[in-house]
Amino acid sequence: MEGASDIGPEGLSDPTWEADSAAQAVVIVGGGFGGLYTALALSQRPEHPPILLIEPNEHFLFLPLLYELLSRELRRWEIAPRYDALLAGRGIAHLRDRVEAIDTDRRQVHTQGGQTIRYGRLVIASGATTTTFGVPGAERHCQGFRTLADVERLQKLLGNLARHPRPLQRLAVVGAGATGVELACKLADLADGSAVIELIEQGPELLPQSRSFNREQAALALQRRDVRLRTHTAVVAVEADRLRLHRTDAAAASAAPTPPPEEELVVAAVIWTAGLAFRPPAITPAPPQDARGRLRCEPTLQLEGRPEVFVIGDLAAPGGLDGPLPSSAQVAFQQAPLLAANLLRSLAQEPLEPFRWNDLGEMLSLGRGEASLCGAGVTLAGRAAFRLRQLAYLSRMPGLSHTLRVAAGWLADWR
Ligand SMILES: Cc1cc2nc3c(=O)[nH]c(=O)nc-3n(C[C@H](O)[C@H](O)[C@H](O)COP(=O)(O)OP(=O)(O)OC[C@H]3O[C@@H](n4cnc5c(N)ncnc54)[C@H](O)[C@@H]3O)c2cc1C
Repeated sequence: MEGASDIGPEGLSDPTWEADSAAQAVVIVGGGFGGLYTALALSQRPEHPPILLIEPNEHFLFLPLLYELLSRELRRWEIAPRYDALLAGRGIAHLRDRVEAIDTDRRQVHTQGGQTIRYGRLVIASGATTTTFGVPGAERHCQGFRTLADVERLQKLLGNLARHPRPLQRLAVVGAGATGVELACKLADLADGSAVIELIEQGPELLPQSRSFNREQAALALQRRDVRLRTHTAVVAVEADRLRLHRTDAAAASAAPTPPPEEELVVAAVIWTAGLAFRPPAITPAPPQDARGRLRCEPTLQLEGRPEVFVIGDLAAPGGLDGPLPSSAQVAFQQAPLLAANLLRSLAQEPLEPFRWNDLGEMLSLGRGEASLCGAGVTLAGRAAFRLRQLAYLSRMPGLSHTLRVAAGWLADWR
């Protein structure tokens, strides 16, 4: 293609990628749950097309078990295997780079490292990021909780709090969705009295999307750990050592004409878990997006108006479903085999199949050795739920060889 410098073997983990076969090649942008599991499912098909996975990180991260990495109940290699180990011998090339732009007219992607790569079929699987909604100071002073670096920072912080105890040390977690609640429970166990955990939620209740059993179990787990849950409370500003809070409930509003109550909270750190932003690479021509910024696609996961481009995971907003899909690994995990099959159908010019979402329920980690789960006719909490959750995730680990290594480690630990 004019002006395109095809990618050569440099920068690729596996030189099975052949630029000459770009008309058939499947290029996958993002190696999280959607992208990696699609690549793995596709690679299992006999005579699969060339597959290139473009992902800047060296390690895949099994996000639902990030809390157990924080608490050291699991080891880093178990939840963050290296891509080169996962992809070895599978005919999947990995380019450690970030896609900056996609030109769907020319069927090219452009990377931060200066590569231009042609594709026959493209999968956009670049997921979501956390947003701080423009709250002043939040980007600068808050920590996130979605990377290995975030975990290391928090472990260091907890170590410092324990080594230099001071009265009334506080850690604030913003957002009482699943991530906020699970993190608050783990932090409370790890801080072990060296800090008070404040869980701040602007809505009226914790876990608004969850089933009532899990919500009740979570509320009990928070109470048992003395986590201070503040609902109806918005964070309006963050400084290096404090938060400004604003009550949002009716009681506060009825206090007018006096200004609504505001409060300052001195904190050792703030961990922001609320809110998702969808920021795919720049795509030209501009694709159709839903109100939240996700890419609108057909039930077959093809981007609307671009049958050779597919979207998966958090970033995908497929039509033809009863309601919006949750942003969850479970959704991406279910979409991946369907997408792999649809990629092959598309290359063979056969009719594609629609995605059907099967809600299998929800599992929450609620502190060291505790969990709650609800789904497929089962409701369970406590230690047994913790083990069952681990086993359920074991069955979803990427690749048989990694799964077996993890299983062997856990069996040894459990004995
Ligand atoms: C702490 C935490 C706990 C969670 N727990 C659960 C849970 O218990 N159950 C559940 O179902 N879901 C859970 N989730 C949500 C779940 O992890 C996500 O819904 C899921 O990962 C979405 O998959 P994805 O492939 O769309 O995106 P991701 O898994 O986020 O993967 C996106 C990938 O794209 C890469 N990328 C981004 N931009 C680019 C670019 N420009 N070029 C190339 N690569 C790019 C990223 O590096 C990343 O590897 C959790 C999320 C977090 C943060």
